[in-house]
Amino acid sequence: MTKVRYLIVGAGISGLAFADRVHDADYLVLEAADEIGGYCKTVVQDGFVWDYSGHFFHFRHPEIERELAARMQDQRIVTVVKDSRIRFADGYVDFPFQKNIHQLPREDFLACLVDLHFRDQAPPQNFREMLYARFGRGIAERFLVPYNEKLYATDLATLDAEAMGRFFPYADEDEIIQNFTAADNGSYNASFTYPEGGAIQYVHALASELDPSRIHTDEPVVAIDPRARRATTPKGEYEFEYLVSSVPFDKLLSLAKVEFDASIYSANQVEIFNLGFDAKGPRDVHWIYYPQRDLPFYRVGFYDNIMGTDRMSLYVEIGRPGDYRLDPAAVDATREQVLDGLRRAGVLEEQRLISSHHVVLDPAYVHITRASRADVIDKQRMLGSRGIYSLGRYGGWTYCAIEDNIVEARELAAALTAF
Ligand SMILES: Cc1cc2nc3c(=O)[nH]c(=O)nc-3n(C[C@H](O)[C@H](O)[C@H](O)COP(=O)(O)OP(=O)(O)OC[C@H]3O[C@@H](n4cnc5c(N)ncnc54)[C@H](O)[C@@H]3O)c2cc1C
Repeated sequence: MTKVRYLIVGAGISGLAFADRVHDADYLVLEAADEIGGYCKTVVQDGFVWDYSGHFFHFRHPEIERELAARMQDQRIVTVVKDSRIRFADGYVDFPFQKNIHQLPREDFLACLVDLHFRDQAPPQNFREMLYARFGRGIAERFLVPYNEKLYATDLATLDAEAMGRFFPYADEDEIIQNFTAADNGSYNASFTYPEGGAIQYVHALASELDPSRIHTDEPVVAIDPRARRATTPKGEYEFEYLVSSVPFDKLLSLAKVEFDASIYSANQVEIFNLGFDAKGPRDVHWIYYPQRDLPFYRVGFYDNIMGTDRMSLYVEIGRPGDYRLDPAAVDATREQVLDGLRRAGVLEEQRLISSHHVVLDPAYVHITRASRADVIDKQRMLGSRGIYSLGRYGGWTYCAIEDNIVEARELAAALTAF
């Protein structure tokens, strides 16, 4: 039996950011996968650099950005002012759709404007009702509903009205009308940074001051005994004072044998194709949103336009329901559907595909509901009384960005080391 003060389960951004803050203390990181990084891993293949879908960095705390950049001085880090668009009919509208309806064909513009003005503003009870109540039927049905249904792969009426929190680009009627003549399309990620070595560089920066012998990869936690404060892996048993987990919350509850209603914890999956071509495609744009139901993907990102490289390098995201079971034999056929969709969407012309990578993130976007919010708070409180803390995007069953994970991990470390 090994005794440790901080047993950190998961070596993604959250677990490593916590370890980074307690690295003078007695800690151990246990990671199920064979490498660190969690969802911030990077694939380097045939001269292309891809993440598990695009992972860009929007810092609200400049001191965190400076600190991480100082730890990766060998990296060229680009800062990019976002150019994101929505495919509509045969053209494009700037993102966010709701603030740029004046760029639509005249009939669509008028329908959206009239519906916006005369919308039913009764307090919305769910995410779908929120889209209609805030923006009216025209905007909701031309973009917000089909796009979010493709992304979340679920009935939007089952989601909390605030399911996307600060990540939803709200705008009131006055702001929308003002935007017709004075464009202000700012959002939480109006500008972002990205290292040329991919998202994993931020992971390496966070891990750079840790003792590698205190990070055990290929060692999943398979059981937790909250009363005895013990965790079991296939390789041994650990007694902890504090256990800090970034494992998806429902999985943590199962590991700790806490009874819970599994139907509360639903999420989508995102299937990603990273695609490298022999020549350049559309220029300038960083990512494009696709509400069209006859296209398999909801978003396509252009690494080559972000990094200023000369061959089209894409990530293509497909929303899948939570119970989706990937059939490995179907991946080639899905890739063909993606390529066909890219042709129909005007992205792909004569370019030849020369490299491709495929990954599924499960869970990807958790379905935030009233029940999930309440259950997470309740069960986190109970586990906390046993020295077990659950953090991160999936440990908190929430919608957040990498920087939020770092801030949360640092706050928890400060609170625990204060004792
Ligand atoms: C499609 C998509 C795009 C995104 N794009 C962006 C973006 O552009 N910018 C941004 O800021 N954020 C983005 N995010 C969010 C970002 O990915 C997360 O906020 C962040 O990666 C979460 O880190 P984490 O450490 O909390 O969780 P994870 O990365 O999930 O890490 C958890 C770790 O726990 C390990 N683990 C699981 N079970 C066990 C076990 N039993 N024992 C031991 N280890 C275990 C896992 O292997 C994993 O390494 C995106 C998310 C998605 C889904």
